[in-house]
Amino acid sequence: MTERDRERYSRQILFAEIGEQGQQRLLSSRAVVVGCGALGSFQAAALARAGVGEIVIIDRDYVELGNLQRQWLFDEADAAQGLPKAAAAARRLAAINSGVKVEPQVVDLNSHNAERLLLPATVILDGTDNFGTRYLINDVAVKHSLPWIYGGAVGSYGVMMPVLPGCSSCLACVFPEPPGGPQPSCDTVGILASASAVIASLQVADAIKIMTGRREAIEARLFSIDVWKNTQQSVGTAARRPSCRVCGERRFAYLEARRRRPISLCGRNAVQVHEKEEPLDLTKLRSTLERLGPVRANEYALRFECRPYEMTIFADGRAIIKGTEDLGIARSLYARYVGS
Ligand SMILES: [Zn+2]
Repeated sequence: MTERDRERYSRQILFAEIGEQGQQRLLSSRAVVVGCGALGSFQAAALARAGVGEIVIIDRDYVELGNLQRQWLFDEADAAQGLPKAAAAARRLAAINSGVKVEPQVVDLNSHNAERLLLPATVILDGTDNFGTRYLINDVAVKHSLPWIYGGAVGSYGVMMPVLPGCSSCLACVFPEPPGGPQPSCDTVGILASASAVIASLQVADAIKIMTGRREAIEARLFSIDVWKNTQQSVGTAARRPSCRVCGERRFAYLEARRRRPISLCGRNAVQVHEKEEPLDLTKLRSTLERLGPVRANEYALRFECRPYEMTIFADGRAIIKGTEDLGIARSLYARYVGS
């Protein structure tokens, strides 16, 4: 460790449970943050400040003004430019700590790319907002014995749980099925930044215990808190469920699902389409679309207005179509302007 590192991380090294040895382990760890919204942007900033050597940030979305209330890493310029969250986060993290290596991945995590993107990792942190992606992370984590930290927040409520494959319950032990019926989301009932920050902070604390080799300090539990009602609850999850489809029977249904469908981004009045398997030539597409309507571009994405809709098209072939929740309309716009 360099003298500069000793100075930079001095307060963390002074903390007896971490010490210089723990700090050295952090510097050689690789953490993967999946989803860079309210939870993920807090996690990524905390991990970079703590000196985690490599941080991978996976996010499919771009920064909007309405994110700034709770997504700590972003600013008005990011929203005005419509930068992808992973790219905006990487830029900001480089300014916070130039000593850590940040790898932004502007992609949708799916069954095709999950193992490539999530491996290798010392720990995975959940910053997603849906159970489909969480079950996919859980499949990869259990299959490869990788620890991960589940977390979610909505309104004034948040929940988190560390998953240590082989030692504690996995996500499917605790929630065998995704919650049924319409679930409250940040887009329907709002969210307090303090609720997401407390959950992200607890996720980072457990991630640091894992990365510094202090797993014994982790309590296997499903922890929930409501920062408005001033309530909290902790349910032990040390016992695995032997009949669990994932960690018991080792069936990885989400990882093995090979069909990719357009995904409706619930409550945002937008649909994501991802039917093309190959990357797009954005420069070429830009010159085509410019003849049809206003196009704004940065190195990661194009934004094309086709009123009343707006398409944001990414280099990996995805598009987010705003102004509709109809999958058919979204698909046909994609076919018309990007190709089928
Ligand atoms: Zn399980």
